[in-house]
Amino acid sequence: MSKLPPVAVCTVCGKYGHAINSACTSRDHRGKPCKGVFGSALNNTDWMPCADCDGAGCDSCQSSGHVYVRNVPAHLRRRET
Ligand SMILES: [Zn+2]
Ligand SMILES: [Zn+2]
Repeated sequence: MSKLPPVAVCTVCGKYGHAINSACTSRDHRGKPCKGVFGSALNNTDWMPCADCDGAGCDSCQSSGHVYVRNVPAHLRRRET
């Protein structure tokens, strides 16, 4: 069963979220809260199914089943055929 992609990405650490414009909830390795906010990532083209887990959820996709690809050049993205 495929999950819906997240709708937001932290502007600082890249954490995926489901609440646009809310404060990021992640902490760094010393326990300091991230100062970022979740920016909207609502386009279908922002997300690709995770290749590592096939959408089931794993560490590399933050258990969302999707990876954020807006910053990945088109020619480097996997193509679905
Ligand atoms: Zn963050
Ligand atoms: Zn995954």
